[in-house]
Amino acid sequence: MWNCEWEYKNQAYLKERYEEKMSGKLPYHPVRKIICKGCGRKFYTNIETKKYCLYGLCGNRGYQKELSQKRLEARQDRICKVCGKVFTPKRSDGIYCSNACRQKAYRQGVTDS
Ligand SMILES: [Zn+2]
Ligand SMILES: [Zn+2]
Repeated sequence: MWNCEWEYKNQAYLKERYEEKMSGKLPYHPVRKIICKGCGRKFYTNIETKKYCLYGLCGNRGYQKELSQKRLEARQDRICKVCGKVFTPKRSDGIYCSNACRQKAYRQGVTDS
């Protein structure tokens, strides 16, 4: 985490390194330019796995966003194409309430269209 905070405070320095890398002066420098997944700002980093500007600031936020997005998608109820029952799909692309209905649909040749 030390690196993370240090990078956050030394963006100007890292930007310079990045520009030197791009101009060919420091071709093997690990610095990269990323777009923070939390706030969408540009960020310069030496850390290979980095996705957020400052984890404490944006890492959690991005993670929460993804989580609530997934929960929202999962919670959307659908109407089974076979029996007409309202159900909550276990998978985001599930269109039948149960295996029994899926098999029935398969036998009857019901398609998604
Ligand atoms: Zn950010
Ligand atoms: Zn059904």
